[in-house]
Amino acid sequence: MIVVLGSECSLRDKARVVRHIERNGGRLLLSEIGDETHIGLIGPEAQALVDDLASMPGVTEIREVALPYPQVSREHHPESSEVRVGDVRIGGEEVVVMAGPCSVEGASQLSLTGGGVASAGARMLRGGAFKPRSSPYSFQGLGEEGLVLLASVRAETGLPVVTEVVAPEDVELVGSYADMLQIGARNMQNFRLLSEVGAQARPVLLKRGISSTVEELLLAAEYVVSAGNPNVVLCERGIRTFETSTRNTFDVSAVPVLKQRSHLPVIVDPSHAAGERSLVPHLARSGVAAGADGVIVEVHNDPDSALSDGKQSLTLDGFASMMDELRAIAAAVGRHVAPARRE
Ligand code: PEP
Ligand code: MN
Repeated sequence: MIVVLGSECSLRDKARVVRHIERNGGRLLLSEIGDETHIGLIGPEAQALVDDLASMPGVTEIREVALPYPQVSREHHPESSEVRVGDVRIGGEEVVVMAGPCSVEGASQLSLTGGGVASAGARMLRGGAFKPRSSPYSFQGLGEEGLVLLASVRAETGLPVVTEVVAPEDVELVGSYADMLQIGARNMQNFRLLSEVGAQARPVLLKRGISSTVEELLLAAEYVVSAGNPNVVLCERGIRTFETSTRNTFDVSAVPVLKQRSHLPVIVDPSHAAGERSLVPHLARSGVAAGADGVIVEVHNDPDSALSDGKQSLTLDGFASMMDELRAIAAAVGRHVAPARRE
C-alpha cells in the first residue's frame, strides 16, 4: 500500500502521518517522487490503518499496490543503489570485476592467482573456503584455514575478499575475515541463513538459485534487507534448463529485468553458467553489454590441477585477455573496467 502526501502537505502533517503509522506498529518506507512524498506501508498492520490515514491532513491518495518485495523494489527507491566493499563501489559507473579460484586450495595457489588477477585489473578477490559440493566425496574446502589465506592475500594485493558462507552458525566467523559474504545458488532460499546475514554488517552477494525465478531472487534479497542489511548485490549465475551444452543456461535477460525491478546492483557469474573455460569470456561480455554492474569469474594459476571447477576456470593469461575485451565493451556502454596495474 502506498500513502501519497501531496506537494501541499506540510512538514508537520507529514510527521503526524509517520508517527501514526509507527505508533500502530506499521513499518514504512519513505520516498520523494517528484513533488510528492510516498509512504510505502509494509506488513500485516497496513490494512487496519487505511481508514485513519485516508482522513488525515496532507494525504491525497492511498494506492493499493501489492509489492511482494517493497524494500528492494525500484518502486519506493527510484535511484540505483551502490554497495561499498572496502574502497570498491558496486553499482556506480565502474564495472567491478571479482576474480579468483573456485576454492582456496593452499597458500601458493591463492597468492599466485590473487596476484595475477590483481595485476590484470580485478578489484576484488573471490575464493571459497566453505564449499557447497554436490557430492559429499568432493573437496569441501579448507574452512577457517582458507579464510586465513584469503585475508593474507588481501593484505598482499589490497583486494577486498568475497567468500561463501553456507551455514547460519558460520556467519560470524566468515564475517570476521571476509569483506563481503556470498550466499551461493544452493542456499538462495535458506531463509535462516538469509536472515542471519541480514542481521550483520557485511555486504552480501546473493546468487540466483539454480532453478529460481527472478521474483524468488528478489524475495530472497528482501529477506536480507528486511533483517536490517541494505547492502545486497544480486548475481545471475545461470539456471537449469533442458539445454545440456552448457553447465547452466546464462539468463542474460535477468540483468535488465532485475535492474528494472530493483534498485540493487546486479552482477553476472559467467563461470558457473558456462561450465567451460572457452565460453566464459563470451558470456562475460554479454553480461557487461546488458548492463551488469560487475562480473565474478573463476581463475586458477593451474586450472588443470584445480580441486573444484577447473574446467570452467580461466588461466591467468585468459583472464587478462578477457579483461581487455571487457574494457572495450564497458566503454561502449558508458562504463569502465579498472586498468591493469603497472608493476
Ligand atoms: C561458487 O561461486 O564457487 C559457487 C559455488 O557458485 P554457485 O553458488 O553459483 O554455484
Ligand atoms: Mn565454483
